[in-house]
Amino acid sequence: MKSAVVCGAGGFIGHHLVRKLKGLGYWVRGVDLKEPEFSPTDADEFLLLDLRQPELCRQALAPSGTASAEPIQEVYQLAADMGGMGFIHSAECEIMVNSALANLHMIQAAADAKVHSYFFSSSACVYSDQAPGSDLIDEEGAYPALPDNEYGWEKLYAERVALAFARNHGLRVRIARFQNCYGPEGTWEGGREKAPAAICRKVAEAKPGERIPVWGDGSALRVYTYVDDMVEGIVHLMRSAEERPTNLGGTEITSVTELAQAVIELSGKDLGIAYVDGPVGVQARHHSMERCQAIGWHTRWSLREGLAVLYPWVKAQAERNQAGS
Ligand code: NAD
Repeated sequence: MKSAVVCGAGGFIGHHLVRKLKGLGYWVRGVDLKEPEFSPTDADEFLLLDLRQPELCRQALAPSGTASAEPIQEVYQLAADMGGMGFIHSAECEIMVNSALANLHMIQAAADAKVHSYFFSSSACVYSDQAPGSDLIDEEGAYPALPDNEYGWEKLYAERVALAFARNHGLRVRIARFQNCYGPEGTWEGGREKAPAAICRKVAEAKPGERIPVWGDGSALRVYTYVDDMVEGIVHLMRSAEERPTNLGGTEITSVTELAQAVIELSGKDLGIAYVDGPVGVQARHHSMERCQAIGWHTRWSLREGLAVLYPWVKAQAERNQAGS
């Protein structure tokens, strides 16, 4: 039986990844500062550990609880001090310190424990801004580097750390640059939520005839990736021979206005949009998906199909909150 440690298993993508790996027959240990918020973990073991501490990273990778007590084979490092644009622009120091510490100590612990394979979750935020309609850039286009925010710089540095460990310690490293990921059981309120969940919440809470606030002028372009596709992509990349950082996302480029309109339509409510000041991030992302498609993976969920799952989930959360208040 294969063994895996998922760091950040109390968070959105990590929680879904644990479920995926269990479905594939793995023995899984989840690690996080907190347990998953919306449903119990599927992990065989769940440890509450602060991965900024080197000794706790070593504890996270202690031999597995399977009968043979074998060394852990695969580590998936998704733990990060993380949020949408509102959080990224207001917590620069926390992001650059907390996420960097977890990344540095975890990869060192993985090399020391001689784990076989190490996955690192990077981000489309490593790229600089692009003008709408630009040509697609591939992964090498991240250099010369000019990420739009400190979160992107930290990811780029952590990628380089992971690649250095691959060269110098023989660690088998795989690096994915996630495009915006969305789906149920992710943060939907409180300041760390990302645009799809935030818009679903605003629509769910709006009364007919109101206008929902959207940051910026709505023209920013993004690729939104449904979480089931993303965890499938992580597994594909981990099993592939691709050693270079690899974009994971679809090819459907959507403006924030189109995202908001799609959610409004799903809600069946008569709502408008009010464009307000707020941190928007880059103007456009035109990133090639050729590399991830070459390993035999592509997204299956359209944005509308994914939102048709996310919107009712967020609406139910909002209604439950309201009933409890
Ligand atoms: P998330 O915030 O839901 O999950 C991250 C988890 O890491 C949280 O549960 C948090 O408690 C945990 N964590 C933070 N600091 C920790 C520490 N010191 N020790 C232990 N656990 C700690 O975020 P997510 O959306 O699931 O993202 C997972 C990964 O993917 C992150 O590395 C993120 O940067 C990356 N990513 C996500 C997206 C996206 O759209 N969600 C896009 C690009 C990259």
